[in-house]
Amino acid sequence: MAEPKQESIEKIVKFVKGFAEKSGTSMHPNPAVTEAVVKGLAMHIDELGKPLCPCNFYKDKEAEAKLRRWMCACDEMQIYKYCHCLLFVREDGMPITEYLPEGHEGRQVYGVVTDPTPEKGRMLRHKAASSSTSAEDPSPGPTT
Ligand code: SF4
Repeated sequence: MAEPKQESIEKIVKFVKGFAEKSGTSMHPNPAVTEAVVKGLAMHIDELGKPLCPCNFYKDKEAEAKLRRWMCACDEMQIYKYCHCLLFVREDGMPITEYLPEGHEGRQVYGVVTDPTPEKGRMLRHKAASSSTSAEDPSPGPTT
């Protein structure tokens, strides 16, 4: 399998550190989780020129890359502070789910996981009621 360019990895690592600090989230306690997601994002920078979320399946990556919603940090992160890739999590490795709409798969899988730093992150929280990446959105799905 191809490896991402070193400069792409460095770009993503820098972004991830900065965004975690800004959003009040942490890296996963298992470094292999973070490394895998960083590598996936770097691969998308090489392939598409943009850090498209690596944890979804896309029918058309090029078309998706033109949209904002699954560009890291994606709308779900900016609105609900939820990262289904587990790149931005709490110190215990759990993804924050408390702001997700009831019925969202994150709530179903993890239950209610509270945010230890509610004063940080969620720059697009005002979009919570009309998000295009709600649980009803069928387009992207888990990568297999
Ligand atoms: S779920 Fe969102 S915040 Fe998490 S890695 Fe994917 S794009 Fe980034």
